Amino acid sequence: MNDRIYLDYHASTPVDPRVADVVRHFMVQEFGNASSADHIFGDRAEAAVMTAAEQVAALVGVQADEIIFTSGATEGANLSIRGFVNWLFERQKGKKVRVGYAAVEHSAVMQTCKSLAQSGLAELAVIGVDQNGMLDWPQLEQTLNHGLDLLCVMTANNIVGNIYPVGPIATLAHEHGVYFFSDATQAVGHIPVDLGTWGVDSAVMSAHKLHGPKGVGALYLRRPLQFTPLFTGGGQQRGIRPGTLNVPGIAGFGKACQLRLQEAAEDSIRVESLRDRARERIRSALPEAVFFGSEETLPGNLSFSVPGIPNKAVVARIRHKVAVSTGAACSSGLEAPSHVLQAMNVPPEMAEGHIRIGVGKFNDAEDVDRAVDLLVEAVRSVKNVMVQAS
Ligand code: PLP
Repeated sequence: MNDRIYLDYHASTPVDPRVADVVRHFMVQEFGNASSADHIFGDRAEAAVMTAAEQVAALVGVQADEIIFTSGATEGANLSIRGFVNWLFERQKGKKVRVGYAAVEHSAVMQTCKSLAQSGLAELAVIGVDQNGMLDWPQLEQTLNHGLDLLCVMTANNIVGNIYPVGPIATLAHEHGVYFFSDATQAVGHIPVDLGTWGVDSAVMSAHKLHGPKGVGALYLRRPLQFTPLFTGGGQQRGIRPGTLNVPGIAGFGKACQLRLQEAAEDSIRVESLRDRARERIRSALPEAVFFGSEETLPGNLSFSVPGIPNKAVVARIRHKVAVSTGAACSSGLEAPSHVLQAMNVPPEMAEGHIRIGVGKFNDAEDVDRAVDLLVEAVRSVKNVMVQAS
């Protein structure tokens, strides 16, 4: 039995030991610089990067030469969104670029768009969501009819796990001549992602969300490029993202993608049944719990609230034994309720009780049962303290 149970797979995932072996190999054995053209160490590193590009591309349904390696999804989103806006701003001789994004986007996308508006390069339109977090489709159509240059809608949400219909959204965007970007970070490796068939123009992902190492990710850019590079340097990756490549991380990312392509379908059935088990156990112990999200969510996501019971107090009681989350990992520490729940119009007392569970590949039924029992015990303990204090 594990004494610490990890149920926060949306924040990060354990590196698969088979991936770790590859990372180590390219740190210790094949440690060459992928740009060294004068010896076999460089050749081997370059070959590893090309193999990884093929493995990533195969998982998301695109061509290997459309994959640009980055340090993660945040960098990819900045490169893509800023790169497109800068490109169009120059082309249309200083006219602001019209950017639309879903109200539930991760801050990697939302803050990038806001920062472009603050610098006077873009004007923004925010597409709202309903109480389940699904896109307000009439508003999306209205925004597109009104005129837009770039639309950003994530493939799956990191808080409530919603999966968005990216194919139909890309089609609609293109009917209006709009460039379409999707943050696929939570989706890749967990649900089928087919960026090429869906018609997505640009997308980002991060290896550590799919049992790869941290600090490596990918940007997908469909040709022809509508993009001005942000960085200057040695010209690596066709100058789109120059700098010495993180070969161990990239090779590990490639291996992780290869494994997800082989194993994700089977894993997700098991993960989904563990998630459903957690939901039933919570529902029967805490009938007042409210569950968030739409009909179709990521297999491991369980987002719920016990109204009026502060999530921080609950998590503080179990944090040494159970890892769950009260918000996105990168914004935890901020006390404001999640902008995703705000966009869904979740009342403050319900947002205050919000807890996100992310079940994953390396969990089992015993983990789930024990974690939920500890969580329920913590909720009851917080409730008792509140009753006594009132
Ligand atoms: N987009 C989404 C939907 C995420 O969940 C995350 C990470 O939590 C990111 C982007 C940022 O990824 P990274 O921190 O790897 O850059």
